[in-house]
Amino acid sequence: MNDKKIYHLVKRLYPICRSITGNGVRQTLQILSEYIPLSVHEVPTGTTVFDWTVPKEWNIKVAWIKDSHGNTIVDFNNHNLHVLNYSTPIHHKMTLEELQPHLFSLPDQPDLIPYRTSYYQENWGFCLSHHQLENLDEGVYEVFIDSTLNDGYLTYGEYFIKGKSEDEMLISTHICHPSLANDNLSGISIVTHLAKHLSEQKNHYSYRFLFVPGTIGAITWLALNEPKTKNIKHGLVAALLGDNGAFTYKKSRQGNTEIDQTVESILSEMEIEHKIINFYPYGYDERQFCSPAFNLPLGNLGRTPYGQFPEYHTSADNLEFINATNLNQSYEVYQKIIERLEYNYQHSHNYPTPQPSFCDSNEVYYINLFPKCEPQLGKRGLYSAIGGNNDQRNRQMAMLWILNYSDGEHHLNQIAQMSNIDPQTIYDIATILEKEQLLEKVSIHKNTLV
Ligand code: ZN
Repeated sequence: MNDKKIYHLVKRLYPICRSITGNGVRQTLQILSEYIPLSVHEVPTGTTVFDWTVPKEWNIKVAWIKDSHGNTIVDFNNHNLHVLNYSTPIHHKMTLEELQPHLFSLPDQPDLIPYRTSYYQENWGFCLSHHQLENLDEGVYEVFIDSTLNDGYLTYGEYFIKGKSEDEMLISTHICHPSLANDNLSGISIVTHLAKHLSEQKNHYSYRFLFVPGTIGAITWLALNEPKTKNIKHGLVAALLGDNGAFTYKKSRQGNTEIDQTVESILSEMEIEHKIINFYPYGYDERQFCSPAFNLPLGNLGRTPYGQFPEYHTSADNLEFINATNLNQSYEVYQKIIERLEYNYQHSHNYPTPQPSFCDSNEVYYINLFPKCEPQLGKRGLYSAIGGNNDQRNRQMAMLWILNYSDGEHHLNQIAQMSNIDPQTIYDIATILEKEQLLEKVSIHKNTLV
Protein backbone atom coordinates (compact mmCIF):
# COMPACT_ATOMS: atom_id res chain seq x y z
CA MET A 1 0.00 0.00 0.00
CA ASN A 2 1.71 3.18 -1.16
CA ASP A 3 -0.96 5.76 -0.71
CA LYS A 4 -1.75 7.98 2.22
CA LYS A 5 -5.23 6.81 3.11
CA ILE A 6 -4.24 5.40 6.51
CA TYR A 7 -2.51 8.66 7.38
CA HIS A 8 -5.48 10.67 6.13
CA LEU A 9 -7.89 8.96 8.48
CA VAL A 10 -5.52 9.67 11.39
CA LYS A 11 -5.45 13.31 10.35
CA ARG A 12 -9.22 13.48 10.19
CA LEU A 13 -9.64 12.00 13.67
CA TYR A 14 -6.82 13.96 15.31
CA PRO A 15 -8.75 17.13 16.32
CA ILE A 16 -11.52 15.24 18.16
CA CYS A 17 -11.49 15.28 21.97
CA ARG A 18 -12.03 11.65 22.90
CA SER A 19 -12.21 10.07 26.33
CA ILE A 20 -13.39 6.75 27.77
CA THR A 21 -17.00 7.90 27.21
CA GLY A 22 -18.81 10.75 25.47
CA ASN A 23 -19.47 12.42 22.17
CA GLY A 24 -15.84 12.38 21.02
CA VAL A 25 -16.00 8.58 20.92
CA ARG A 26 -19.37 8.68 19.11
CA GLN A 27 -18.06 11.15 16.55
CA THR A 28 -14.99 8.95 16.00
CA LEU A 29 -17.10 5.82 15.48
CA GLN A 30 -19.40 7.78 13.15
CA ILE A 31 -16.41 8.57 10.93
CA LEU A 32 -15.22 4.93 11.02
CA SER A 33 -18.75 3.92 9.92
CA GLU A 34 -18.04 5.59 6.58
CA TYR A 35 -15.42 2.86 6.02
CA ILE A 36 -16.99 -0.21 7.65
CA PRO A 37 -20.51 -1.04 8.84
CA LEU A 38 -19.74 -0.70 12.52
CA SER A 39 -22.23 -1.68 15.25
CA VAL A 40 -22.17 1.02 17.88
CA HIS A 41 -23.02 -0.24 21.38
CA GLU A 42 -24.15 2.01 24.23
CA VAL A 43 -23.74 0.57 27.72
CA PRO A 44 -25.49 2.55 30.50
CA THR A 45 -23.61 4.18 33.38
CA GLY A 46 -23.80 1.97 36.46
CA THR A 47 -23.73 -1.34 34.55
CA THR A 48 -21.68 -3.84 36.51
CA VAL A 49 -18.91 -5.36 34.44
CA PHE A 50 -17.08 -7.96 36.54
CA ASP A 51 -15.43 -6.05 39.40
CA TRP A 52 -15.98 -2.66 37.69
CA THR A 53 -18.87 -0.29 37.05
CA VAL A 54 -19.44 1.64 33.83
CA PRO A 55 -18.60 5.25 34.82
CA LYS A 56 -20.52 8.43 34.25
CA GLU A 57 -20.36 9.91 30.76
CA TRP A 58 -18.11 12.93 30.27
CA ASN A 59 -18.57 15.68 27.71
CA ILE A 60 -16.88 19.02 27.32
CA LYS A 61 -17.52 22.16 25.30
CA VAL A 62 -15.27 24.92 26.59
CA ALA A 63 -12.38 25.30 29.02
CA TRP A 64 -10.09 28.23 29.62
CA ILE A 65 -8.05 30.18 32.14
CA LYS A 66 -8.02 33.99 32.00
CA ASP A 67 -5.48 36.19 33.75
CA SER A 68 -6.34 39.26 35.82
CA HIS A 69 -6.41 41.39 32.64
CA GLY A 70 -9.02 39.14 31.08
CA ASN A 71 -6.58 37.59 28.57
CA THR A 72 -7.17 33.92 27.83
CA ILE A 73 -3.89 32.21 28.64
CA VAL A 74 -4.88 28.53 28.34
CA ASP A 75 -7.62 27.46 25.96
CA PHE A 76 -9.08 23.99 25.30
CA ASN A 77 -10.01 25.24 21.82
CA ASN A 78 -6.33 25.57 20.94
CA HIS A 79 -5.45 22.04 22.08
CA ASN A 80 -7.69 19.49 23.75
CA LEU A 81 -4.76 18.22 25.85
CA HIS A 82 -5.02 21.50 27.79
CA VAL A 83 -7.83 20.13 29.92
CA LEU A 84 -7.41 17.29 32.41
CA ASN A 85 -9.49 14.59 30.70
CA TYR A 86 -12.68 13.94 32.75
CA SER A 87 -12.50 17.36 34.46
CA THR A 88 -15.64 18.26 36.40
CA PRO A 89 -17.26 21.65 35.65
CA ILE A 90 -16.05 24.78 37.41
CA HIS A 91 -16.36 28.56 37.07
CA HIS A 92 -14.39 30.38 39.72
CA LYS A 93 -11.89 33.15 40.40
CA MET A 94 -8.84 32.15 42.42
CA THR A 95 -5.27 33.03 43.30
CA LEU A 96 -2.30 31.39 41.62
CA GLU A 97 -1.70 29.46 44.83
CA GLU A 98 -5.21 27.99 44.70
CA LEU A 99 -4.88 27.25 41.00
CA GLN A 100 -1.44 25.62 41.23
CA PRO A 101 -2.56 22.12 42.43
CA HIS A 102 -4.80 21.90 39.35
CA LEU A 103 -2.03 22.62 36.84
CA PHE A 104 0.03 19.85 35.25
CA SER A 105 3.24 20.27 33.28
CA LEU A 106 6.41 18.37 32.37
CA PRO A 107 9.51 20.01 33.92
CA ASP A 108 11.79 17.72 31.90
CA GLN A 109 10.07 18.51 28.59
CA PRO A 110 9.23 22.18 29.20
CA ASP A 111 7.79 22.90 25.73
CA LEU A 112 5.25 20.09 25.69
CA ILE A 113 1.70 19.79 27.02
CA PRO A 114 1.18 16.56 28.97
CA TYR A 115 -1.82 14.24 28.51
CA ARG A 116 -3.49 13.60 31.88
CA THR A 117 -6.72 11.94 32.94
CA SER A 118 -8.73 11.59 36.13
CA TYR A 119 -11.41 9.02 35.34
CA TYR A 120 -12.10 7.50 38.72
CA GLN A 121 -11.37 10.40 41.06
CA GLU A 122 -13.43 13.50 40.43
CA ASN A 123 -11.14 16.44 39.85
CA TRP A 124 -10.59 19.32 37.46
CA GLY A 125 -7.40 20.66 35.98
CA PHE A 126 -5.39 22.08 33.11
CA CYS A 127 -2.28 20.83 31.37
CA LEU A 128 0.23 23.29 29.97
CA SER A 129 3.87 23.62 29.01
CA HIS A 130 6.27 24.03 31.91
CA HIS A 131 7.58 27.25 30.36
CA GLN A 132 4.11 28.72 30.46
CA LEU A 133 3.53 27.50 34.01
CA GLU A 134 6.76 29.09 35.23
CA ASN A 135 5.81 32.43 33.72
CA LEU A 136 2.46 32.75 35.47
CA ASP A 137 2.28 35.89 37.65
CA GLU A 138 0.81 36.12 41.10
CA GLY A 139 -2.71 37.45 40.79
CA VAL A 140 -6.28 36.42 40.32
CA TYR A 141 -7.23 33.93 37.63
CA GLU A 142 -10.65 33.10 36.25
CA VAL A 143 -11.14 29.42 35.55
CA PHE A 144 -13.97 28.04 33.43
CA ILE A 145 -14.67 24.45 32.45
CA ASP A 146 -17.99 23.85 30.73
CA SER A 147 -18.17 20.08 31.02
CA THR A 148 -20.76 17.53 32.14
CA LEU A 149 -20.24 14.34 34.09
CA ASN A 150 -23.62 12.61 34.25
CA ASP A 151 -25.34 9.28 33.93
CA GLY A 152 -25.08 8.33 30.28
CA TYR A 153 -23.33 5.60 28.33
CA LEU A 154 -20.05 3.98 27.53
CA THR A 155 -19.84 3.74 23.75
CA TYR A 156 -17.86 1.21 21.75
CA GLY A 157 -17.74 -0.03 18.18
CA GLU A 158 -17.70 -3.60 16.94
CA TYR A 159 -17.54 -5.10 13.50
CA PHE A 160 -17.93 -8.81 12.88
CA ILE A 161 -17.16 -10.44 9.54
CA LYS A 162 -18.52 -13.94 9.25
CA GLY A 163 -16.08 -16.40 7.69
CA LYS A 164 -16.50 -20.04 6.63
CA SER A 165 -15.66 -21.12 10.16
CA GLU A 166 -16.96 -20.03 13.55
CA ASP A 167 -13.34 -19.85 14.68
CA GLU A 168 -12.50 -16.22 15.15
CA MET A 169 -9.66 -13.78 15.13
CA LEU A 170 -10.10 -10.78 17.42
CA ILE A 171 -8.39 -7.47 16.73
CA SER A 172 -8.86 -4.78 19.34
CA THR A 173 -7.74 -1.18 19.54
CA HIS A 174 -8.33 1.61 22.07
CA ILE A 175 -10.25 4.74 21.11
CA CYS A 176 -10.12 6.84 24.26
CA HIS A 177 -7.25 9.26 23.66
CA PRO A 178 -7.81 12.85 22.48
CA SER A 179 -5.34 14.53 20.08
CA LEU A 180 -2.55 11.94 20.16
CA ALA A 181 -1.52 10.48 16.83
CA ASN A 182 0.59 7.41 17.52
CA ASP A 183 -1.04 6.36 20.76
CA ASN A 184 -4.45 5.35 19.61
CA LEU A 185 -5.06 6.96 16.19
CA SER A 186 -2.45 4.87 14.36
CA GLY A 187 -4.13 1.72 15.67
CA ILE A 188 -7.65 2.94 14.93
CA SER A 189 -6.85 3.78 11.32
CA ILE A 190 -4.91 0.59 10.57
CA VAL A 191 -7.57 -1.64 12.13
CA THR A 192 -10.32 0.17 10.20
CA HIS A 193 -8.53 -0.28 6.87
CA LEU A 194 -7.73 -3.89 7.67
CA ALA A 195 -11.38 -4.58 8.47
CA LYS A 196 -12.45 -2.93 5.24
CA HIS A 197 -9.98 -5.04 3.30
CA LEU A 198 -11.13 -8.30 4.92
CA SER A 199 -14.78 -7.44 4.32
CA GLU A 200 -14.06 -7.39 0.58
CA GLN A 201 -12.79 -10.97 0.40
CA LYS A 202 -13.83 -14.50 1.43
CA ASN A 203 -12.20 -15.66 4.65
CA HIS A 204 -11.91 -18.96 6.45
CA TYR A 205 -11.85 -17.34 9.84
CA SER A 206 -14.49 -15.02 11.17
CA TYR A 207 -13.06 -11.65 12.21
CA ARG A 208 -14.12 -9.46 15.08
CA PHE A 209 -12.87 -5.90 15.36
CA LEU A 210 -13.28 -3.95 18.58
CA PHE A 211 -12.91 -0.20 18.95
CA VAL A 212 -13.12 0.21 22.71
CA PRO A 213 -12.03 2.69 25.37
CA GLY A 214 -8.91 1.36 27.11
CA THR A 215 -9.34 -0.92 30.15
CA ILE A 216 -13.03 -0.26 30.96
CA GLY A 217 -14.05 -0.85 27.31
CA ALA A 218 -12.28 -4.18 27.05
CA ILE A 219 -13.64 -5.23 30.46
CA THR A 220 -17.14 -4.21 29.38
CA TRP A 221 -16.94 -6.17 26.14
CA LEU A 222 -15.63 -9.26 27.92
CA ALA A 223 -18.31 -9.04 30.62
CA LEU A 224 -21.15 -8.70 28.10
CA ASN A 225 -19.79 -11.20 25.57
CA GLU A 226 -18.16 -13.88 27.67
CA PRO A 227 -19.64 -16.85 25.72
CA LYS A 228 -18.18 -15.51 22.47
CA THR A 229 -14.64 -15.78 23.77
CA LYS A 230 -14.65 -19.55 23.24
CA ASN A 231 -14.47 -19.00 19.48
CA ILE A 232 -11.43 -16.73 19.65
CA LYS A 233 -8.49 -18.68 18.25
CA HIS A 234 -6.13 -15.78 17.68
CA GLY A 235 -6.02 -12.17 18.70
CA LEU A 236 -3.98 -9.00 18.47
CA VAL A 237 -4.15 -5.72 20.31
CA ALA A 238 -3.10 -2.98 17.90
CA ALA A 239 -1.53 0.26 19.15
CA LEU A 240 1.48 2.51 18.53
CA LEU A 241 1.96 1.71 14.86
CA GLY A 242 3.06 4.97 13.23
CA ASP A 243 6.44 5.90 14.75
CA ASN A 244 9.89 5.19 13.30
CA GLY A 245 10.82 2.53 15.84
CA ALA A 246 11.34 -1.19 15.33
CA PHE A 247 8.38 -3.52 15.83
CA THR A 248 7.71 -5.00 19.24
CA TYR A 249 5.62 -8.11 19.65
CA LYS A 250 4.49 -8.91 23.14
CA LYS A 251 3.53 -12.56 23.23
CA SER A 252 0.29 -13.97 24.56
CA ARG A 253 0.22 -15.10 28.18
CA GLN A 254 0.20 -18.69 26.93
CA GLY A 255 3.37 -17.78 25.09
CA ASN A 256 3.54 -20.37 22.35
CA THR A 257 0.32 -20.23 20.43
CA GLU A 258 -0.17 -20.07 16.69
CA ILE A 259 -0.48 -16.27 16.74
CA ASP A 260 2.83 -16.00 18.63
CA GLN A 261 4.56 -18.25 16.11
CA THR A 262 2.97 -16.53 13.13
CA VAL A 263 3.87 -12.97 14.15
CA GLU A 264 7.44 -14.03 14.81
CA SER A 265 7.73 -15.78 11.42
CA ILE A 266 6.26 -12.91 9.45
CA LEU A 267 8.50 -10.29 11.06
CA SER A 268 11.56 -12.46 10.38
CA GLU A 269 10.56 -13.31 6.82
CA MET A 270 9.90 -9.65 6.01
CA GLU A 271 13.34 -8.88 7.46
CA ILE A 272 11.91 -6.12 9.58
CA GLU A 273 13.76 -5.04 12.67
CA HIS A 274 11.83 -6.32 15.67
CA LYS A 275 11.88 -7.48 19.24
CA ILE A 276 9.83 -10.31 20.75
CA ILE A 277 9.02 -9.94 24.42
CA ASN A 278 7.22 -12.16 26.91
CA PHE A 279 3.80 -11.34 28.27
CA TYR A 280 3.63 -9.05 31.30
CA PRO A 281 0.40 -8.07 33.03
CA TYR A 282 0.31 -4.32 32.29
CA GLY A 283 0.31 -2.28 29.09
CA TYR A 284 -2.76 -2.21 26.81
CA ASP A 285 -5.91 -4.33 26.77
CA GLU A 286 -4.04 -7.63 26.45
CA ARG A 287 -3.96 -7.37 30.26
CA GLN A 288 -7.75 -7.98 30.26
CA PHE A 289 -7.95 -10.48 27.38
CA CYS A 290 -5.08 -12.41 28.97
CA SER A 291 -6.38 -12.23 32.55
CA PRO A 292 -6.22 -15.72 34.02
CA ALA A 293 -9.84 -16.75 33.47
CA PHE A 294 -9.72 -15.79 29.77
CA ASN A 295 -6.07 -16.37 28.92
CA LEU A 296 -6.83 -15.85 25.24
CA PRO A 297 -4.24 -16.57 22.56
CA LEU A 298 -3.72 -12.88 21.96
CA GLY A 299 -0.62 -10.70 21.78
CA ASN A 300 0.16 -7.04 21.26
CA LEU A 301 1.86 -5.90 18.09
CA GLY A 302 3.16 -2.34 17.83
CA ARG A 303 6.37 -0.42 17.28
CA THR A 304 8.14 1.38 20.14
CA PRO A 305 6.45 0.29 23.39
CA TYR A 306 4.44 2.79 25.43
CA GLY A 307 6.45 5.03 27.72
CA GLN A 308 9.66 4.31 25.80
CA PHE A 309 9.58 7.27 23.43
CA PRO A 310 9.80 10.85 24.71
CA GLU A 311 6.72 11.98 22.75
CA TYR A 312 4.52 9.44 24.61
CA HIS A 313 1.43 11.02 26.22
CA THR A 314 2.45 14.56 25.24
CA SER A 315 1.50 17.12 22.61
CA ALA A 316 4.56 15.94 20.62
CA ASP A 317 2.70 12.71 19.73
CA ASN A 318 1.21 14.66 16.84
CA LEU A 319 0.74 14.37 13.07
CA GLU A 320 4.45 15.06 12.46
CA PHE A 321 5.55 12.29 14.81
CA ILE A 322 4.04 9.58 12.58
CA ASN A 323 4.05 9.19 8.83
CA ALA A 324 2.33 7.35 6.01
CA THR A 325 5.29 5.08 5.26
CA ASN A 326 5.42 3.69 8.79
CA LEU A 327 1.65 3.28 8.96
CA ASN A 328 1.58 1.48 5.62
CA GLN A 329 4.36 -0.86 6.67
CA SER A 330 2.52 -1.69 9.91
CA TYR A 331 -0.62 -2.37 7.90
CA GLU A 332 1.31 -4.69 5.61
CA VAL A 333 2.66 -6.67 8.57
CA TYR A 334 -0.87 -7.14 9.97
CA GLN A 335 -2.16 -8.14 6.57
CA LYS A 336 0.60 -10.72 6.07
CA ILE A 337 -0.05 -12.22 9.51
CA ILE A 338 -3.70 -12.66 8.61
CA GLU A 339 -2.86 -14.13 5.20
CA ARG A 340 -0.60 -16.66 6.92
CA LEU A 341 -3.23 -17.62 9.48
CA GLU A 342 -5.75 -18.05 6.66
CA TYR A 343 -3.30 -20.18 4.71
CA ASN A 344 -2.52 -22.36 7.71
CA TYR A 345 -6.17 -22.81 8.46
CA GLN A 346 -6.80 -24.03 4.96
CA HIS A 347 -3.91 -26.48 5.09
CA SER A 348 -4.15 -27.84 8.59
CA HIS A 349 -5.85 -27.32 11.89
CA ASN A 350 -2.74 -27.35 13.87
CA TYR A 351 -3.19 -25.55 17.17
CA PRO A 352 -0.46 -26.26 19.66
CA THR A 353 -2.14 -27.32 22.91
CA PRO A 354 -0.71 -26.00 26.15
CA GLN A 355 0.97 -28.71 28.18
CA PRO A 356 -0.40 -29.43 31.66
CA SER A 357 2.03 -28.46 34.37
CA PHE A 358 2.65 -30.11 37.73
CA CYS A 359 2.69 -28.16 40.94
CA ASP A 360 5.57 -28.26 43.35
CA SER A 361 4.33 -29.20 46.79
CA ASN A 362 6.86 -27.05 48.67
CA GLU A 363 5.75 -23.82 47.12
CA VAL A 364 2.98 -21.32 47.91
CA TYR A 365 0.16 -21.19 45.39
CA TYR A 366 -2.68 -18.69 45.34
CA ILE A 367 -5.87 -18.42 43.32
CA ASN A 368 -7.05 -15.04 42.13
CA LEU A 369 -10.68 -14.74 43.23
CA PHE A 370 -11.35 -12.15 40.48
CA PRO A 371 -9.80 -13.91 37.50
CA LYS A 372 -12.01 -12.32 34.84
CA CYS A 373 -10.21 -9.11 33.85
CA GLU A 374 -8.40 -7.10 36.48
CA PRO A 375 -10.09 -6.31 39.78
CA GLN A 376 -10.52 -2.57 40.30
CA LEU A 377 -7.67 -1.83 42.67
CA GLY A 378 -8.34 1.90 42.96
CA LYS A 379 -11.74 1.57 44.62
CA ARG A 380 -10.24 -0.68 47.32
CA GLY A 381 -7.62 1.96 48.08
CA LEU A 382 -4.97 -0.58 47.18
CA TYR A 383 -2.76 1.80 45.25
CA SER A 384 -2.28 3.88 48.39
CA ALA A 385 -2.36 0.88 50.74
CA ILE A 386 0.79 -0.45 49.18
CA GLY A 387 2.34 2.98 48.58
CA GLY A 388 4.12 5.31 50.92
CA ASN A 389 7.59 4.08 50.10
CA ASN A 390 10.03 4.75 47.28
CA ASP A 391 9.38 1.36 45.87
CA GLN A 392 5.78 2.10 45.01
CA ARG A 393 5.96 1.31 41.32
CA ASN A 394 7.66 -1.99 41.98
CA ARG A 395 4.97 -2.92 44.50
CA GLN A 396 2.19 -1.94 42.08
CA MET A 397 3.75 -4.13 39.42
CA ALA A 398 4.01 -6.94 41.95
CA MET A 399 0.26 -6.65 42.51
CA LEU A 400 -0.48 -7.03 38.80
CA TRP A 401 1.92 -9.94 38.38
CA ILE A 402 0.53 -11.82 41.37
CA LEU A 403 -3.09 -11.29 40.31
CA ASN A 404 -2.43 -12.36 36.75
CA TYR A 405 -0.45 -15.49 37.57
CA SER A 406 -2.29 -16.68 40.67
CA ASP A 407 -4.08 -19.39 38.73
CA GLY A 408 -2.97 -22.38 40.76
CA GLU A 409 -0.26 -23.15 38.21
CA HIS A 410 2.34 -20.58 39.20
CA HIS A 411 3.79 -20.40 42.70
CA LEU A 412 5.07 -17.19 44.28
CA ASN A 413 8.74 -17.90 43.64
CA GLN A 414 7.96 -18.51 39.99
CA ILE A 415 6.08 -15.21 39.83
CA ALA A 416 9.06 -13.48 41.44
CA GLN A 417 11.33 -14.96 38.81
CA MET A 418 9.09 -14.10 35.86
CA SER A 419 8.55 -10.53 37.02
CA ASN A 420 12.10 -9.89 38.16
CA ILE A 421 10.72 -8.57 41.43
CA ASP A 422 12.40 -9.69 44.64
CA PRO A 423 10.60 -12.59 46.37
CA GLN A 424 10.16 -10.67 49.64
CA THR A 425 8.07 -8.01 47.86
CA ILE A 426 6.05 -10.70 46.10
CA TYR A 427 5.31 -12.45 49.42
CA ASP A 428 4.45 -9.14 51.15
CA ILE A 429 2.08 -8.04 48.42
CA ALA A 430 0.46 -11.47 48.22
CA THR A 431 -0.30 -11.21 51.94
CA ILE A 432 -1.95 -7.79 51.41
CA LEU A 433 -4.02 -9.12 48.51
CA GLU A 434 -5.06 -12.12 50.56
CA LYS A 435 -6.26 -9.81 53.37
CA GLU A 436 -8.25 -7.84 50.80
CA GLN A 437 -9.87 -11.13 49.77
CA LEU A 438 -8.58 -10.90 46.24
CA LEU A 439 -6.50 -14.05 46.65
CA GLU A 440 -6.97 -17.38 48.33
CA LYS A 441 -4.19 -19.76 49.24
CA VAL A 442 -4.82 -23.15 47.67
CA SER A 443 -4.05 -26.58 48.99
CA ILE A 444 -1.62 -28.39 46.79
CA HIS A 445 -3.69 -31.57 46.53
CA LYS A 446 -6.59 -29.85 44.86
CA ASN A 447 -4.32 -28.58 42.15
CA THR A 448 -1.68 -31.24 41.80
CA LEU A 449 -2.41 -31.64 38.14
CA VAL A 450 -3.88 -28.52 36.63
ZN1 ZN B 1 -1.99 5.95 26.06
